[in-house]
Amino acid sequence: MEPSSLELSPFIREPLKTGSEETPLAPLEIPPIPLFQRGVGGIYCRNEEGILDSAALLPNPPPMGGGVNSTLLGGFPETESASLSRTNLLGLNRKAMEDYFRSIGDKPFRAVQLLQWIHQRGVDDFSAMTNLSKPLRTYLASHCEIRPPEIVLAQEASDGVRKWVLQVDANNRIETVFIPEEGRGTLCVSSQVGCALDCSFCSTAQQGFNRNLSVAEIIGQLWVAQRELGTERRVTNVVLMGMGEPLLNFNNVVAATELMMDDFTYCLSKRRVTLSTSGVVPALDRLAEVSDVSLAVSLHAPDDALRDELVPINRKYPIKELLAACKRYIGKEGRRKVTIEYVLLDGVNDSPAHAKALAKLLANVPSKVNLIPFNPFPNSRYRCPSPETITRFSEIVQQAGLITTTRKTRGGDIDAACGQLVGRVNDKSKRHFKLQAIA
Ligand code: SAH
Repeated sequence: MEPSSLELSPFIREPLKTGSEETPLAPLEIPPIPLFQRGVGGIYCRNEEGILDSAALLPNPPPMGGGVNSTLLGGFPETESASLSRTNLLGLNRKAMEDYFRSIGDKPFRAVQLLQWIHQRGVDDFSAMTNLSKPLRTYLASHCEIRPPEIVLAQEASDGVRKWVLQVDANNRIETVFIPEEGRGTLCVSSQVGCALDCSFCSTAQQGFNRNLSVAEIIGQLWVAQRELGTERRVTNVVLMGMGEPLLNFNNVVAATELMMDDFTYCLSKRRVTLSTSGVVPALDRLAEVSDVSLAVSLHAPDDALRDELVPINRKYPIKELLAACKRYIGKEGRRKVTIEYVLLDGVNDSPAHAKALAKLLANVPSKVNLIPFNPFPNSRYRCPSPETITRFSEIVQQAGLITTTRKTRGGDIDAACGQLVGRVNDKSKRHFKLQAIA
């Protein structure tokens, strides 16, 4: 039997929902829509919403004459000129999408229809959205857009890992990596252009920092990856372990993860969306209030003196405060253990004494340890320990009763492994000037 276009859509993980009584949805007809048409606008390389991290959530002002009645009764006038700055609907989560439709005098349940078209079916052309009225489609086509970041380089490693370099504006590029595994596919997503935190073993840090990514640019990485993977593979897990510190782009990251977990988009469960942080303690407490994502923390050292050196934010939020915040986070009902990431650096933090100290430190923290053998990059001063050293370290931590896994290096031949993502960052941190001055 010929599979329907619905089954063919890589965006869809379960039958589309048709809504509840509260939000009556027209049954979604399933016309044979070409997947991933390049539609509206096709304008790339423009600045997104800028660095204000809530900007992407603000809908455009109502259209001219905009009250509920005038818009609904009068329809969506075809003559209305296109707004100069279109609303990128890709970046609107359910709430923001509902607000948008309210603001143009339409019903909030349109939000669900749009979310399904964009995220479950990969459609970026309003004219293909056949369960919307013609005037609404015309209105959206002239006021809105569905604009993902543009792929400027796509690479595939010998082990099947795929990396996309994405242009987010004229001067900046970010990287996104897909890691296929038996029974699952993990997408490593970036949250900022560069990183401001300056961890000494991370190549993203060496690029400096430019700006936060907008919601559209964060969720756009998932959208683009799913489009590129086609029907062959699905993104089943997302880790915010690409470029940037997610908790320093709080609002946009939270909105984007909400979009990932929405029933009408990618339907990823909270267990399958993991936020990795170097330990921005106040933001971690805020996250506990508003989000349910799984948590990973980049610890990398068992004592403050060493962590101060490797992860400079430790000077502001030392280990004791960080672990207390981790406990508060997982203390919330239904949350799992926190994943403690520990990059193994030859001769720096990989001795049996370090392993014992780590196990002692974590004795009272519901956690599991993920050891990451250091991935080298040009001009880095560190090396990866020997396999024997890694095994010994792992055994000591395990013997102390902690679940311990060692991350397999994937995608190393295309510089797609942890800490190797560089993109292209128009550094605004002036770090390079400082380094030149020191040299
Ligand atoms: N800013 C977030 C996300 C960063 S990347 C954070 O700090 O958690 C995800 C993980 O890769 C972090 O644990 C990071 O410390 C680690 N990492 C960075 N550079 C690395 C490298 N060269 N080799 C191995 N792991 C690295």
